[in-house]
Amino acid sequence: MSSSSTATPPISLRTVLRDGRALMELAELQRLMENTYGERDRGRGVSSTIAWIAEEIGELAQAVRKGTDPERLHELGDVLAWLASLANQLGLSMDDAVARYASGCPRCEAMPCDCAP
Ligand SMILES: [Zn+2]
Repeated sequence: MSSSSTATPPISLRTVLRDGRALMELAELQRLMENTYGERDRGRGVSSTIAWIAEEIGELAQAVRKGTDPERLHELGDVLAWLASLANQLGLSMDDAVARYASGCPRCEAMPCDCAP
C-alpha cells in the first residue's frame, strides 16, 4: 500500500497509513525491536524475556482495572514490544503466529466465532 501526502510522517516501506496515522505491521515491529533492543534482550535470554512479559501483563491488568486510556495504551505497547522481542529471540514470525486467526476462529472457522462459550 502506498500513500502520498504533503504532510506524510516519516514511515518505512512496510508501514501503512490509515487516517493519516502510521500503522505498524507486525514484521515491522519485530524489525524495530531487533534494531532497538535485540542485542541487549538476547544477552538477557529468553527466560528473562518471559519474566518481563509476565510483569508487563501484570501492569496491563492494573491499567485496565484502574488506569486511563493513555496508561492502557502504554501497557499494551509494552506487552507487544516484549512479545516481538521474544519472537525475535525464538527466530519466529509474529505474522506466522497470528496467521491461524486470519480467516476467523481457528477452532470453528467462523467469524464471528460460533464456539460454545
Ligand atoms: Zn470458534
